Amino acid sequence: MDLLLEGGVVAAAGERLDQPAQTKVFDAAGMVVAPGFIDLHAHLREPGFEHKETIASGSSAAVAGGFTAVCCMADTDPVNDDPSVTEFISKRAQQVGLARIYPVGALSVGLNGVEMAEIGEMVRAGAVAVSDDRRPVANAQLFRRALEYARSFDVPVAVHSEDLDLSDGGSMHEGAVSTRIGLRGMPTSAEEVMVARDVLLADLTGGRLHLCHLSTPTALDLVRTAKQRKLAVTSEVAAHQFVLTDEDVAGADYNPNWKTNPPLRSATEVEAILQAIYDGTVDAIVSDHEPHHADEKELDFADAPFGIVGLETAVPLALDRLVHGRVIGLTQLVRLMSTRPAEIFGLPGGSLREGAPADLTVLDLRAVRTVDPGNFRSRAHNTPFAGMRLKGWPVATIVGGEVVWQAS
Ligand SMILES: [Zn+2]
Repeated sequence: MDLLLEGGVVAAAGERLDQPAQTKVFDAAGMVVAPGFIDLHAHLREPGFEHKETIASGSSAAVAGGFTAVCCMADTDPVNDDPSVTEFISKRAQQVGLARIYPVGALSVGLNGVEMAEIGEMVRAGAVAVSDDRRPVANAQLFRRALEYARSFDVPVAVHSEDLDLSDGGSMHEGAVSTRIGLRGMPTSAEEVMVARDVLLADLTGGRLHLCHLSTPTALDLVRTAKQRKLAVTSEVAAHQFVLTDEDVAGADYNPNWKTNPPLRSATEVEAILQAIYDGTVDAIVSDHEPHHADEKELDFADAPFGIVGLETAVPLALDRLVHGRVIGLTQLVRLMSTRPAEIFGLPGGSLREGAPADLTVLDLRAVRTVDPGNFRSRAHNTPFAGMRLKGWPVATIVGGEVVWQAS
């Protein structure tokens, strides 16, 4: 099968296409050519935290990880709660010219959870969703109004579901392992009670609710029920959540590179996540890329910041565990990492139909490589996957018809 890319779009798709004169040919024989992968959830840190990551280094990491587009969260400094910040991010991304970067606007001013941000103005400036990600929205009335208001601009409200009182300052999953190793745990119910509340508010308002990085069987059951009732509820799972468990946290000897939020759960939750990926409860697989400077992760496990880098490992983790692990087929993976993400946030891409953007992710399903943070293009190296051998890697990334990255 051949693809003809012209003027930044797919001009033709079919068997043995005629090759116009002076066409550059990209030979993908033996490879899988998929519509460009879209990450709905990453933190790119600029403006304000350039010591962790910049839009340039994050874009570079994205394309090297097989992503042609990335949605970036609003927890910058200044917070992306104002159209001037939204425009700054889009402009920087265009100057860099690697991946397509779509800003997610804040739900509340300064992520303060009190006063709603100017959602309409940010959407006009290019925001594709609103979210206070990493700051759970405790105020149910504010969340209700945000769902109603965002609905009038046809953008989803994405949410990090966590009741902070129930989490109670915990740093890992609450269970037998946290008791054994003596770290304060975060119970699964901290996530579940908020998912339940927000599904009820989505029902009340008819607003579009996107539940970020879910990690518990009950949270996923709530999504299942919401979908049966035809509510506008979608969900995502971060790649590390279906690979690692709390036993890995214990085995890592209190290394903060295993500290994520939601925390790495037990084998029971991982099993439920795989089931939810298989049966379609999960709409998207994301990186939840959270770069931190090495000094910040030097702290004790309990005091270190949450989060790991993910842009350069999410695709190989998904190929290795989900496709080679026979949880889902390749078609379903493309749906989870390209087609559905495009639909949920209303983005161009997600297909190779004629007229679609010429954004492609080229995969080598047979390649076996070891994760080496020394080769990361991200500024940060906070990964628990160093030294892990994975089968199935991206080998080239094409955005707007241009090869923006190719494996060496
Ligand atoms: Zn996040």
